[in-house]
Amino acid sequence: MIPARDPRALTRELLAFNTINPPGMERACAHLLGSMLQEAGYRVEYHEFAEGRTSLIARIGQGDGKAPLCFTGHIDTVPLGAAHWRHDAFAGETDGDRLYGRGSTDMKSGIAAFVCAAIELAPHLASTPGLVLVITAGEEIGCEGAKFLADRKLLGSAGAIVVAEPTDNYPYVGHKGLAWFEIETAGVTAHGSMPEVGDNAIVKMARVIDDLGKYRFPVESHPVMGKPTLNVGTIRGGLNTNSVPDRASITVDTRTVPGIEHAHLCKSLASLLAPHGAHVRQIVDTPLLYTEPEQEWVASVFEACTPYVGARPTPKTITFSTDGADLKRGFGGPPAVILGPGEPTLAHQTDEWCSMNRIGQSTELFRSLMRDWQR
Ligand SMILES: [Zn+2]
Repeated sequence: MIPARDPRALTRELLAFNTINPPGMERACAHLLGSMLQEAGYRVEYHEFAEGRTSLIARIGQGDGKAPLCFTGHIDTVPLGAAHWRHDAFAGETDGDRLYGRGSTDMKSGIAAFVCAAIELAPHLASTPGLVLVITAGEEIGCEGAKFLADRKLLGSAGAIVVAEPTDNYPYVGHKGLAWFEIETAGVTAHGSMPEVGDNAIVKMARVIDDLGKYRFPVESHPVMGKPTLNVGTIRGGLNTNSVPDRASITVDTRTVPGIEHAHLCKSLASLLAPHGAHVRQIVDTPLLYTEPEQEWVASVFEACTPYVGARPTPKTITFSTDGADLKRGFGGPPAVILGPGEPTLAHQTDEWCSMNRIGQSTELFRSLMRDWQR
């Protein structure tokens, strides 16, 4: 019999691994989780999309008939940022109910919660539909680990997905899609004293930006997700003040809702900006994630969350994007919710922390979702 693990203690163990992305280097952390799960009876596979960038899949159950329930989380974290931390980012310092560290909220606590629940239930899962735990590397930069697993068809099957990202234990039914573009304008350089013989790429870009401000998405709004958005995030152009610039570029962040295809969006921006000679290239593509709140399993998750959030949850989507979209594609489109112990406003912040009480609640909640699935 494997002793029950404490999810708070496991979160602290995971915080001790520096998995800041870049460079990520998730291998040691993935192997710790893999060996614990293996010891508990899980079949564990490791998959590396690059050297040291290790994701793992752990499965238990018989795998015929009903598909297993999937829980997923990423082990990489974002960098510490420029500001000084008052708490050690890797030591798992605590203060009252708070557990501090990079990744405490986003999202080593979420992984610890479902891994502890999964280990505790393991002895009862051998002849049930079971579980599949997908623990990924490289989420923070373009969901690289999840994309690798989905593209190589390594995932197998799952009947539903819980993405244990920080939601304060509130179940969200998805998030917008994310499509980033790089837009370039080209011109002809000349001496700054004779602009009339050159062709100014920055002036063209100003017109591009003006047109982007007037862009209308093909879908104006979604009843749960709200409106799609477009933001010009960076701009570069020109080398010196006394020359006509022959190149300028911007990057644009769009967040999309159901009904907007990213490939189509790219073409539509390209044709809008063609009169300025602008070249449009998509640089990041994360699909949206959405499940109808009326879906039967989602409704049962809402029911299970009610005691933790104080009232029956109303359908909402979360502002950040997740691995869930690529995993849903890889699993052939099962329903998915985003639900985890972290505090969403603390993700990526200086002195990131997670409530230890919430970690305990998540473990309880995940255990009940895992049990219900086996019926
Ligand atoms: Zn995250």
